[in-house]
Amino acid sequence: MIAAFLLVSSFVAPVSGPVRSQAPAPQVDAEPTTAGPKLDLRVSPFVDLYFMVRHAAASKEQATPAELAAAAAVARELDAALGGPLGWGPIEGLLPRIDDAVSAKREFATLPATLRTRSGGTLELRANALKLADALAVYEPVYRSTLAAERAKALVAARRELEGTLLAKQTEAFESILGALEFSRAELVIPVYLVLDAPEPGAVTQRDDAGRGVCFVSLGAHAGTLLHESILHEALHALDVASPTSVLTKLRAKLEAAGIGPREREWRDVPHTLMFVQAAETVRRVLAPEHRAYGDVAGYYAKVRSIADLELALWPRRLAGELSTEVALDELVRAVVALRDAR
Ligand SMILES: [Zn+2]
Repeated sequence: MIAAFLLVSSFVAPVSGPVRSQAPAPQVDAEPTTAGPKLDLRVSPFVDLYFMVRHAAASKEQATPAELAAAAAVARELDAALGGPLGWGPIEGLLPRIDDAVSAKREFATLPATLRTRSGGTLELRANALKLADALAVYEPVYRSTLAAERAKALVAARRELEGTLLAKQTEAFESILGALEFSRAELVIPVYLVLDAPEPGAVTQRDDAGRGVCFVSLGAHAGTLLHESILHEALHALDVASPTSVLTKLRAKLEAAGIGPREREWRDVPHTLMFVQAAETVRRVLAPEHRAYGDVAGYYAKVRSIADLELALWPRRLAGELSTEVALDELVRAVVALRDAR
């Protein structure tokens, strides 16, 4: 509704000219002043079951009962073929449409028959996904009769706690994020599924069947303000997917102009590390000044040490207004090119 209105409004702009910006807000029944990203925290027993199976598949320990172990074995094989968390996108993007193994089977049947894998091979995507749905169907009644009630209770309690903390401050948090990263798409509802367990790194954002970001965050991997940072980090991925322009798209364009293309790890790591830096900074500014960054606590910054060091030094100067976005990004890209050339 709001998007449609903005579209109409921009069409009439040339006619009404400069007066448009002076005109009072139109009287509509929508909520024009509250447009901004909103987290939609969701709890779904089936999505929890699904990620529990994915977690068991990634674990070295033997899963029990046998129905869980069997489903985990199917998921483990598929994970190897898909090449890691982001490879699951086509399957996990369908989860918002799925409530149980019956609907999983229906939805997975709509997947493309084959998928080109990152290693250049061909995966029988639909058949393998349906095999997983069958294994989930065998485990589902066990999960529902033994674990579902207790786990749903824990998830609902976590959501209630988040309503009093992160959600109570989400307007300020998104103002901080939009101010810093300049996402062009701001009026977004971001679905975030809370689950108890998920494979490393414990949170992921996939595109749904309409291309929108849908986030999955496990409570097992994150607690306290790390959970807040993790949810905001995944929300940043959803905003990134939805926004034709942002500081991240500018950064990628500048990296490309400097000769660093999508196939190079800096092209992914430099914007992604900035998302970590900004999410942690927003948590500190809006929710908890004593917050320690996920990048430090969980070891992410250590994996991208020189990029993290550059951004941890540079980005606070941008946020303090010492540097414009343009100058900060140019400085960052120059330093990244020097790093890349040195390796
Ligand atoms: Zn991420």
